[in-house]
Amino acid sequence: MTRDPRFDVLFEPVKIGPVTAPNRFYQVPHCNGMGHQYPSSMAEMRGVKAEGGWGVVNTEECEISHTSELSGAIESRLWDDSDIPVLAKMVDKIHAYGGLAGIEPAHLGAGAANNYSREIPMGPAARPIDLYEPVQARRMDKADIKAFRKMHVDAAIRAKSAGFDIVYVYAGHDMTTLMHFLQADRNDRTDEYGGSLKNRVRLLREVIEDTKDAIGDTCAIAVRLAVDEMLGKGGISSDGEGREIIEMLAELPDLWDVNVSGWENDSATSRFSDEGYQTDYIRFVKQITTKPVVGVGRFTSPDTMVSLVNKGVLDLIGAARPSIADPFLPKKIEEGRVEDIRECIGCNICVSADFLSHPMRCTQNPTMGEEWRKGWHPERIAPKTADETVLIVGAGPAGLEAARALGQRGYDVTLAEATDTIGGRVHTESQLPGLSQWRRVADYREYQISQMANVAVYLNSPLTADQVLEFEADHIVLSTGSEWDTTGIGRSNRRAILGHDAGTVMGVDAICAGEKPTGPVVIFDDDYYYMAGLIAEKLRREGHDVTYVTPTPDVSHWTHNTMEQSRIQTRLMKLGVKITPLHTLTRISSNHVDLTCIYTDAVHQIPCATLIPVAMRNPREDLFSALQERATSLTRIGDCYAPGTIAAAVYGGHRYARELGEPAVTGVPFRRELPLLADD
Ligand code: ADP
Ligand code: SF4
Repeated sequence: MTRDPRFDVLFEPVKIGPVTAPNRFYQVPHCNGMGHQYPSSMAEMRGVKAEGGWGVVNTEECEISHTSELSGAIESRLWDDSDIPVLAKMVDKIHAYGGLAGIEPAHLGAGAANNYSREIPMGPAARPIDLYEPVQARRMDKADIKAFRKMHVDAAIRAKSAGFDIVYVYAGHDMTTLMHFLQADRNDRTDEYGGSLKNRVRLLREVIEDTKDAIGDTCAIAVRLAVDEMLGKGGISSDGEGREIIEMLAELPDLWDVNVSGWENDSATSRFSDEGYQTDYIRFVKQITTKPVVGVGRFTSPDTMVSLVNKGVLDLIGAARPSIADPFLPKKIEEGRVEDIRECIGCNICVSADFLSHPMRCTQNPTMGEEWRKGWHPERIAPKTADETVLIVGAGPAGLEAARALGQRGYDVTLAEATDTIGGRVHTESQLPGLSQWRRVADYREYQISQMANVAVYLNSPLTADQVLEFEADHIVLSTGSEWDTTGIGRSNRRAILGHDAGTVMGVDAICAGEKPTGPVVIFDDDYYYMAGLIAEKLRREGHDVTYVTPTPDVSHWTHNTMEQSRIQTRLMKLGVKITPLHTLTRISSNHVDLTCIYTDAVHQIPCATLIPVAMRNPREDLFSALQERATSLTRIGDCYAPGTIAAAVYGGHRYARELGEPAVTGVPFRRELPLLADD
């Protein structure tokens, strides 16, 4: 197939200073939890993006000095020459597919605690650092500023010798020293680097000029600038200082990479933002500069991309998450296979890896982070090893992905689903407030399967054990999912809560099915991810009196890792949900519940006609129990094996498909990256 001519514009080369991007698909810098600790994994992952057609592929933020290091988080490093080979490996992988390699040198100043190097952080002013740590940054003096400029030059020279084509100067995300100097509320200096905007921009200008002087003959110099902090007039804004900074420096860099700040605004989830949510903040930039402009906005639609270019908003279509969910997005457009794009759902499971310091995972792309250590390719998979049949029971994310990947391998697959709808929990949860894009997990797989003659799907087919066996499939896969528990057992209550059977309890599944609670509703969140917050939002919007009780200090506590917590709490508070943190729920009566303080054990009662415990899910095990002794090849995947994230269910389905018929691996089932042991 060939591409639709209306997408031709996306495949035009774009000159960026001394280099030329082969097309307009631009993977902006993004963290990945691999960085310096899992360098081969990181390099392979970037190479796969280039193979998939991204014309420019960047690193994550790259620490330029031991005086600014984020130990704990796993970023890339360019502290000295010994870091060059890691990054050169990444560059080679990208160049092998004709892409340009970019690097984002970063000095985080008051954004890093330096717990490993034990250097005192430094910034424009003497202030506490941004992290919740007992550390203050010192004010940079003139010698520090000189040394800081040299650090950038040294890093740029190393980047050039590693082979990079594009080298950033990074003043974004409320996170780097260069941005901190720009911000009037962080920079209280009275010298030539503080006060007026011209003075606050001085260091950024100097570093751009230094970098150009050092490597600008062969490398393009990109500036990443947060043009709006989304603080209104209180901060940098696109109709205020953000615009003025671009005006001051308009023609200085070779490329403008512009976005909103902080990271939680830049990488907003689909629950709180639509595709293109940054466009109104960044569209002014191209009116000021003749240099190419790249921006992001969770773009997955080629029509949107074309319109951004044609309307003169962007020259390059920036993407982090869309390139994670589908490293082959550009190739699919180029090959006229737009419907094969695996669209990002905007859930930020990928982001959580950075906070939790492990290799990145993606809900939509189960191969993410596995490219090197397991040799998994997002588009290719080994053919089947035998002419065998597989029966998969349950068409949630686990069953769907197993069916899709087994179908791709050539197996003869039957997928039986009890209900009249594909998708399982994804279908259910995508109907909760703000989650409609999550449906893409099912949509992508449903379409792929519909194109495979060797995969048959049967809806309205609740299978019993006998029916499963009558099928005589060579392999039986159970992906029957889970149900929310209603007893209150969970992290806080190891036994069922007293009174759970008194008739006032409703389960999450009943609420999702549309059943209506009565009277004052209490939601007990002992799960800490998104579900309790969503149920609270849904019921409050429907007009119920809702109290949210949780042992954690805030609502949906784990969503700090997806950068949504603050927005969720704000939304619930504005909706009028009453929030009682730091309490467990210990007894249920007919018209009230007992709450116990997690510190003092003090008990108080609040009115409750309906209690909704959100604490744990029970795997659906009936079918497994009935088949365990009777079936030869029987495997559970996804939530019926152990309830977890949708990402874990998709991974479970994919893993089963990859491993079927392959020799069993003993020991660690992936390649490891170990540090070198010193000689002495
Ligand atoms: P997972 O996240 O593991 O994919 P889900 O709960 O999303 O799990 O999906 C499980 C799916 O399995 C649901 O759509 C459910 O209707 C279906 N299912 C459960 N039991 C059976 C059964 N006995 N026969 C067919 N389908 C089933
Ligand atoms: Fe998109 Fe979620 Fe994948 Fe991140 S984890 S790329 S937000 S689908």
